[in-house]
Amino acid sequence: MNRGSCKPWNVMRLADGVEVLELPVRSFMGQTIVHPTLTWDDDTVVLVDAGFPGQLQQIREAMARAGVPFDRLDKVIVTHQDIDHIGSLPDIVRESSHKVEVLSHEEERPYIEGRKPLIKMNQERLSKRLVSLPEEQRQRAEALFANPPKASVSTVVADEEVLPYCGGMTAIFTPGHTPGHICLYLNQSKILVSGDALVVTDGELRGPNPQSAYDIDTALKSLKKLTQYDVETVICYHGGVYKDSANKRLAELASAAH
Ligand SMILES: [Zn+2]
Repeated sequence: MNRGSCKPWNVMRLADGVEVLELPVRSFMGQTIVHPTLTWDDDTVVLVDAGFPGQLQQIREAMARAGVPFDRLDKVIVTHQDIDHIGSLPDIVRESSHKVEVLSHEEERPYIEGRKPLIKMNQERLSKRLVSLPEEQRQRAEALFANPPKASVSTVVADEEVLPYCGGMTAIFTPGHTPGHICLYLNQSKILVSGDALVVTDGELRGPNPQSAYDIDTALKSLKKLTQYDVETVICYHGGVYKDSANKRLAELASAAH
């Protein structure tokens, strides 16, 4: 596999029934790669996070490459409401041949469902963020936020709730990046799907990005919760996979945050 290429369907198998999808995208954030996680067993197929708007085809192709047909997808767990995580959710729900269950924390639900405006995308925040962008990117972003994606959340998940899918996965309430952000700990493979609670940059695992956090102090405090789990691998939505003494690195990040 060539991780450096920009093929729209790169995947990386991390354990039996766990793949990280590597989906390149050109967005208002520039050229970037997002990393949804796919996990499955004989009964259930779960996708964690749903890309930017317009990435359905990439998700389909990545799933096919992982050997899991899109039509087997049962559940999408959304770590939080940001547009790069819920973007293709409406398309996934619409295009599926059966009902796809959407799960999130209760705090995120009204935003994902479009009953409240996406929390980071109020006019003031948006104009600040977009002012520095080239005209074409700015227009693209404005069009996107004028009509944000939305989907019904079928099931809310609580802190430390163990979801009985694919060997069990534990939801960890980690507010800060957004008010209802969750991480997921895959109990069998000891993989932490961190959403945006952590990022990988230059090969190093780092704490939440202050620029994109809704409440950075709360986001930093949430890191401590992650040290209660025995983590062998971290999947960061931005930056991808981190494996190097993950427990030790998580402890360092948590203690530096206090
Ligand atoms: Zn994100």
